[in-house]
Amino acid sequence: MIDWNEFSFNTRAIRAGQVRTHEGEHSEAIFPTSSYVFKNAAEAAARFGQKEPGNIYSRFTNPTVRTFEERLASLEGGERCMATASGMAAIFSTCLGLLKAGDHIVASHSIFGTIVVLFNNILSKFDIKTTFVTLNDLDSWKAAIQPNTKLFFLETPSNPLMALGDISAIAQLAHANNCLLAVDNCLCTPALQKPLSLGADLVIHSATKYLDGQGRCLGGAVIGDESLVGKDIFAILRSGGPSMSPFNAWVFLKGLETLDLRMQRHCDNAEILAQWLEKQDAVAHVYHPSLISHPQHELAKTQQSRFGGLVSFEVKGGIEAAWRVIDSTKIMSITGNLGDVKSTITHPGSTTHGRLTREQRDAANITDGLIRISVGLEDIKDLQDDLLRGLIEKKNV
Ligand SMILES: *Cc1c(COP(=O)(O)O)cnc(C)c1O
Repeated sequence: MIDWNEFSFNTRAIRAGQVRTHEGEHSEAIFPTSSYVFKNAAEAAARFGQKEPGNIYSRFTNPTVRTFEERLASLEGGERCMATASGMAAIFSTCLGLLKAGDHIVASHSIFGTIVVLFNNILSKFDIKTTFVTLNDLDSWKAAIQPNTKLFFLETPSNPLMALGDISAIAQLAHANNCLLAVDNCLCTPALQKPLSLGADLVIHSATKYLDGQGRCLGGAVIGDESLVGKDIFAILRSGGPSMSPFNAWVFLKGLETLDLRMQRHCDNAEILAQWLEKQDAVAHVYHPSLISHPQHELAKTQQSRFGGLVSFEVKGGIEAAWRVIDSTKIMSITGNLGDVKSTITHPGSTTHGRLTREQRDAANITDGLIRISVGLEDIKDLQDDLLRGLIEKKNV
């Protein structure tokens, strides 16, 4: 067996984890089977009793899913990856696996909106409480720690405002207080940022986004040491069942093969668009870590290899002006998804963050004039023209 970890990123993204069958298929095989047959009763007993490795039932062992898990673990530099049905399923499984009633989470305010709902409305029913803090303010993390705090959770850069958390500093604080740090690496992917190498204990993915890259499937993953992912978190998969389908795993494998190539172009387009937006009169502010105006530009340069594919900006004139820009586009898709080759445009305040209260939105700085673009791989001139229509209309009002 080849040790793929000796090879560089793109070679692993294309090759790691594949085990060919006797048919000699070149592309990875899909195994659409719910269960597996055993040679005899003794083998069945050994497999079920986990005395012998091998497939049992596709809720928790499937060869296509395993290939995806091994490839993504290799790209993130982790021992073990567990794939799940969605990004939310990865987060839910991680929390259920690691926490118990009475435990406490410290999480950044600026995480994916549905995670705030999960922590506040669902985990709280099981007496797991969360304190939300400011991502880029280490003192607020310190102040939130309680004797029962077990988990720190953050996403960096944050969506939609592109704030950064200093992963090394927050990991040190977590470890000094016997806590684990989980980082949602959805926006950077391992092509741009490797949280485990910066001290994080767990990496969470919504594979739905850049890992697929073409908006086809829902999926998620959690990566970390065997002692965390392979034990208590895996137990949730086995007995709770938030499993990834083999077909989706295959789509994600194809996505990983072009991940770096796509991320480089997403970053190219986002950087050009961010600089161009900064020059538009109708735009009050642009959020992208590549900009010198970004307060954490220097941290972004050291923590990430590039600045990512999301650009947010605030137009002058509040919600009316923002909706006009969105409704004037002809190319960009009006949808909440991100990380697709197709550019998407969103009004976070009324969609992805619409379930938050106004106070929560204010705390997260999600203003009415804010627009988020997940910059796709179309030609950049066409994307600029697409936005210009709504921005110029605004100027003439
Ligand atoms: C979309 C997203 C999630 C949730 O993933 P799903 O696959 O939609 O369940 C979690 N974190 C971030 C940063 C996301 O963008």
